[in-house]
Amino acid sequence: MKYICCSNIQSGLRFEYNCIKLCCFMGTNTPDPLTIKKDYYGEKLNWSELISKIQEIRSGFKRGEIDSHCKGCFALREDDWDDNTKFKWIQIAHWSDCNCNCTYCYRVASEFVKPKKRYKLMPVIKELDKMGLLDYSGELAYSGGEPACLREFDDITNFFIKKGERNIMVHTNAIVPVKSVLNGLKTDTMSVTVSVDCGDREKFKQIKQIDAYKKVMNTLKRYVEAQGLNKKMVRSKYIIIPKVNDTKEDVNKWLDETERIGIQQVIIDFESDWLARNSKNIPSYIDDLYDYIVADIKRRGLDIQFYGVANQYRTIKGKDLDVGIGLHKGD
Ligand code: SF4
Ligand code: SF4
Repeated sequence: MKYICCSNIQSGLRFEYNCIKLCCFMGTNTPDPLTIKKDYYGEKLNWSELISKIQEIRSGFKRGEIDSHCKGCFALREDDWDDNTKFKWIQIAHWSDCNCNCTYCYRVASEFVKPKKRYKLMPVIKELDKMGLLDYSGELAYSGGEPACLREFDDITNFFIKKGERNIMVHTNAIVPVKSVLNGLKTDTMSVTVSVDCGDREKFKQIKQIDAYKKVMNTLKRYVEAQGLNKKMVRSKYIIIPKVNDTKEDVNKWLDETERIGIQQVIIDFESDWLARNSKNIPSYIDDLYDYIVADIKRRGLDIQFYGVANQYRTIKGKDLDVGIGLHKGD
């Protein structure tokens, strides 16, 4: 049936450290993504109940009613959606432990409520698999705390690799190399994204509040070398943080270093809180910087992708929409 909806409402599932959602978008226009289970800490789930809840949400979209949580989201599109009940876009963010301290991290935000307890996700994944509710032709994306700080990271990752998951997307700070990432990269199905945000030790210390730039670059080099046939699976991300890394010099240093270690794909994003505060009054020097970054990346022959907050920016400004929103690989 043709209607306006998004792939996450159709088949997304995101486990967070205290709840289950359908997506992760917390951009300017979607500050509160659809939550289907609040206060969740690994308890046994009634999947029929949850699926009915998702179908109820979908019914609204079928009637042409855009849920208030989704109004203005760049991911909405008209399509011929089926009535699939399998989960295809899985996001794992059920832990918040990390060995870094980025100034923009959700963990340092005042509204961050420390999780009541940690929970294991592997039993839930196995249960979903047993019930035939997982579709491995989409994507598994990690975006919680740091993979190196999650004990079951290797187990979950290896489980999905064995099942033939089409795309596995790992977000890591790369301070410590992770074994299953080094192995996963060989399969050509795993991508690794690291928010480096700068091109030198001092700026790194300022943004990450830890002196680990060299370690990160060393890990990235190992990840680049571990790649299989596809050499674009290791990605360096640049979160534009106004007043911190907002000059052409900052960008040039980052791109020089990115090329030096052999990374071929980069990702642009914006600090989400800043864009939320300034979406109606973005200074022109930021527009100029954005244009410069995109032009320079293209000039260097690197691949470019945009993340959620950058997509909100591009939607507001109507910029480079031809590049695509890079929502899900394979979607
Ligand atoms: S429309 Fe946007 S906010 Fe709503 S579920 Fe989809 S991705 Fe999330
Ligand atoms: S690496 Fe990620 S989880 Fe860790 S502090 Fe930085 S943004 Fe937060």
